[in-house]
Amino acid sequence: ATPFRAWWAENGNPSQPSRLGTALESDLGDGDTTIRVLYSGVNYKDAMALTGQPGIVKTSPLIPGIDLVGEITSTSSPDHRAGDLVLLNGTGIGEKRHGGLAERARIDARHLVRVPGSLGPRRAAAIGTAGYTAMLSVLAVERHGTTPADGEILVTGAAGGVGSIAIALLARLGYTVTASTGRADEHADYLTRLGASSIIDRAELNEAGKPLRSQRWAAVVDAVGSHTLANAIAGLKYAGIATACGLAQGGELPLTVMPFILRGVTLAGINSVETPQPLRQEAWDRLAVDLDPRHVDAISHTIPLAEAGNTARDVLAGKVRGRTVVDVTA
Ligand code: NAP
Repeated sequence: ATPFRAWWAENGNPSQPSRLGTALESDLGDGDTTIRVLYSGVNYKDAMALTGQPGIVKTSPLIPGIDLVGEITSTSSPDHRAGDLVLLNGTGIGEKRHGGLAERARIDARHLVRVPGSLGPRRAAAIGTAGYTAMLSVLAVERHGTTPADGEILVTGAAGGVGSIAIALLARLGYTVTASTGRADEHADYLTRLGASSIIDRAELNEAGKPLRSQRWAAVVDAVGSHTLANAIAGLKYAGIATACGLAQGGELPLTVMPFILRGVTLAGINSVETPQPLRQEAWDRLAVDLDPRHVDAISHTIPLAEAGNTARDVLAGKVRGRTVVDVTA
């Protein structure tokens, strides 16, 4: 048994943040498939786990990392074989069972997705849970029937992982995108290059507002929650849709029924963790086609495994733009 490097998190104690240590394959727990991990990431949830914030780590000690991309080293699944390049987002890894921030992982093959050849492993990791959640949000907007002709789409938390990729996807699909960010000075060029047609300051949305605002948005892709989402819903056009995936501002939703009963709007919840396999596969098939690889590169930066803890602090401090890929082999 050869030890390999692994981050270890204890639950809910910021004075005891995660540490980089070692693990053995016998520490990895149950699963039909063992993976040599190539890349993971630092999503918001990973940042919480790595810094010892409560709420994410459900069993302790735990290897964090809700994303992994790697090569199968052994499997009893009839659908896969050793050498396959695969990815996994959510399904409880990095929360209830060991995740991607280690050189090896053991998981259940039924949730695996093959790494799309057009993306390759690093870009698949750069997309990660955030990008796949952005795609799930865009799919919800499409299924609602919203078309580019319906008007502006608002993306909140624009410079974050979900927001950045949502902008790139929506713009590529022909929608007119307005990006809401708290960092317009710093990131206006970045957001425009991804495809945003206009940028608003998130201060316009993040305080208690009226039950109804003037009808502006055909759809809203929100990762922020709280007053921001409430105000965005209050500004939806008749029969518009808002998707809710996150709580970067807060988990509360201080809103009235007025937009629902007077404008017939829809609020769609997005959960990337429990997504059934066919929708997972559909989202990744679409990401492989609808996301310009140059945008994936512009959105992401790569750090070595040992840097994950420092980056986690930056993520929680709101200092990180786009997506952080962790090169687990470095
Ligand atoms: P992220 O990269 O940290 O981005 C979050 C963005 O939200 C920030 O970049 C910032 O954008 C904005 N923001 C931060 N604090 C804010 C505040 N107080 N008020 C208003 N805006 C604020 O995180 P992410 O990976 O994109 O994830 C975003 C959220 O979605 C998180 O809550 C995450 O847990 C959640 N999420 C949920 C799922 C799911 O399955 N439901 C999946 C993935 C992520 P600007 O700097 O541009 O203002």
